[in-house]
This record gives sequence, structure tokens and C-alpha cells, in this order.
Amino acid sequence: MKTVGYAAHNSDAHMVPYHFERRDLRANDVAIEILYSGVCHSDLHTVNGDWGPQSYPLVPGHEIVGVVQSIGTDVTKYKIGDKVAVGCMVDSCQACDQCDKGEEQYCRNGLTMTYGSPDRISGDITQGGYSKHIVVREEFVLSLPENMDLSKSAPILCAGITTYSPLRTWGVKAGSRVGVIGLGGLGHMAVKLAVAMGAEVTVLSRSKKKEQDAKAMGALGILASSDEEAMQAAANSFDLIIDTVPAKHDVTPYTQLLDIDGTLVIVGQVGPLEEPMTIPLITGRRRIAGSLIGGIEETQEVLEFCAKHNVYPECEMINVDQINDAFERMAKGDMAHRIVIDMASLAAE
Ligand code: NAP
Ligand code: ZN
Repeated sequence: MKTVGYAAHNSDAHMVPYHFERRDLRANDVAIEILYSGVCHSDLHTVNGDWGPQSYPLVPGHEIVGVVQSIGTDVTKYKIGDKVAVGCMVDSCQACDQCDKGEEQYCRNGLTMTYGSPDRISGDITQGGYSKHIVVREEFVLSLPENMDLSKSAPILCAGITTYSPLRTWGVKAGSRVGVIGLGGLGHMAVKLAVAMGAEVTVLSRSKKKEQDAKAMGALGILASSDEEAMQAAANSFDLIIDTVPAKHDVTPYTQLLDIDGTLVIVGQVGPLEEPMTIPLITGRRRIAGSLIGGIEETQEVLEFCAKHNVYPECEMINVDQINDAFERMAKGDMAHRIVIDMASLAAE
């Protein structure tokens, strides 16, 4: 199938329109017309080559919402016209213990990412959601709850599941004291989801600039990491902190904010951190952990959770030709929301 997207042709270049082919449908494939595609900081890291060399041209995008256009002969879960979504993964071995548990993101044989990964069968490099169409095997397609607003749902597919999964893993419930470091795409979803779970949520931001946004999302307010006095006063006051900072940083000022047995979960920086001080860990059985997106079952769960609790990302809609500008803005980190591409702005031919 011929399609068109926006691709980076090397790590320095701006993304430009790119015509390419999606594979012919295999028996278990679903072809999707993409309506909306969220813009994640991981797209920026990948295009820039921050996580190692990439295969270019590269079409990023792993927060995908659309409608089923056609299905393979063995597909039973979806029919033409269904509202569907795709997140960060499009395949895994489906045979190991992790896949059996529905934790395909930890597949022992390696997951296939939505873009920039070799396809398990053909070896072709996968291309993502900044495009008109995508073909994905049925098991990795999510169903959008009937009452969901498609134009506001795309960021749930990465920012949503990546923060929902640790909130669930660490048992956040009514009254839990949750801190969220960085009020960006992931951070603002962490706030909204934790608030919907009944937690008391505080945003740990570099300054108080985003306080109004934080409060509008249900957070108690902002604790500015630059305010040493306030940071001292907040010692021992969190059960769980979700760290979404997309760069190398020092976690020690934050581990001190955890109560005994508290956990700091890193979902942001994929790479080195500054050397952490172990004293807060040892003297309070505090932990530093990490977490990668979430499995397909849990991604379906967060979609249902958002529909039920009316939790939607804050989406700023852009046309696809504004994507390079969006990347520049995201690099600055001053948005407290997610940018979403309206794919109708990309002409089919
Ligand atoms: P984002 O929208 O750019 O938000 C990141 C936030 O971090 C910013 O809004 C800012 O918040 C803060 N920040 C930015 N630069 C900073 C710096 N140099 N030092 C300290 N704080 C800084 O990014 P995102 O889309 O949420 O993604 C965040 C990170 O998560 C990225 O590294 C991405 O690759 C990663 N990620 C991981 C997974 C996973 O599975 N673990 C999944 C998706 C994304 P304040 O202004 O409030 O400080
Ligand atoms: Zn992402």
C-alpha cells in the first residue's frame, strides 16, 4: 500500500514529506488510516540519534489513533471502520513468559518498536505514526472505547500507559502521596491519572511557572526543585515519585523526598544519570526503579480507565508541516501538554 508521512533523513535534518510503502496485509494484519498522531519526546531523542544510530529515512510516531481500513483474512477482533489505536510496540515473540503475562514490552526475545525496529518477519525497518496509514498485527492493535474523543486520545498510547503502568505497579490508591517530576507530556498524564486514582499529587518542576496548569489538572501545586528550603521541608513526604525528566540529572534531591519504603520510578531519562547518593536509599529502604511503557492488556486498561474517568490529555493540535517547530518547542520543555498532529493536514498524495 502506498502511503505518505513525514520522515527525518538524518539526525540533523528537518522532517520532510516522504512517500513509502506499507506491507501487503498478512493474514493477521490490520490496516489503519491514521487520524491523529501524538508527538513524544522519544521521537525527538530517536530522530536526533540520542539513543544510538538510526536507520533513515525515519518516520517517527507511536501515539496513533485512527480507523480500520482493511483487515487480513484471519483477523477476528476488528472490522472495517472500527476506531483503533497503536502505541509504542507492534510485535513481540508471543511465546516467552513475559508475552504470556501480557508484558510484551519486556519480551525475552525483544519487542518490535512501532518505528525504527526490524520487522520480525521481513527485517524491514518499521515506520511510525507521522503518516497516513499503518499496518499492524491484530494483537498489537488497541480498541478505542466507543465514547472516546479520538482527537484527544492519542497521547494515552505512550504518555498515558508509561505513567499508568508504574502508578498501578506501585499500588497507587486514594490517599497515596505521589510526586511527578517534569510537567510535560508524560508528567501531565501522570498527574491526571494519579488524581483520578484518588492520590494527593504534587508536581516537582524546575520552577513555579506551570503552577496554574498543575492545579487545573488536580495537583495540589508545584514544589520547585530550585527552592532548596521548600525541598528540605518536603523531606519524607511522598510514597511514589514518577521521574519524567528527559535528560541526565541528579536524583538525590528527589530520593530524599520519599518516605520510608518509597520508590522513585524513572521513566524519563534512558541513559546515564548523575551518580546517586546512597544514604537516602540505605537509611530509609528507599528505591530507585525504572519502567518501560506497559503491555497491550494494560494499555487497553488505561484506555478504558480514561474513558470511565473522563481523563484526557491536554492536546495542542498542529498541522503536520508544523512538526519541526514542535520538536524545537519540545526540546525547550516549557509546555505542560502534548502536541498532536491532525493527520487530515497531510494530503494523501
Ligand atoms: P516532555 O513533554 O518534553 O516533558 C519533559 C519535562 O521534563 C518538561 O516539560 C520539563 O518539565 C522537564 N524537563 C525538560 N528538560 C529538563 C531538564 N534538562 N532538566 C530537568 N527537567 C527537564 O517529554 P515527554 O514526552 O514527557 O518525555 C519525557 C521522557 O520520557 C523522554 O526522555 C522520553 O524519551 C521518555 N519516555 C520514556 C518512556 C518509557 O517507556 N519509559 C516512554 C515515553 C517517553 P518542567 O518544566 O516541569 O520541569
Ligand atoms: Zn513516547
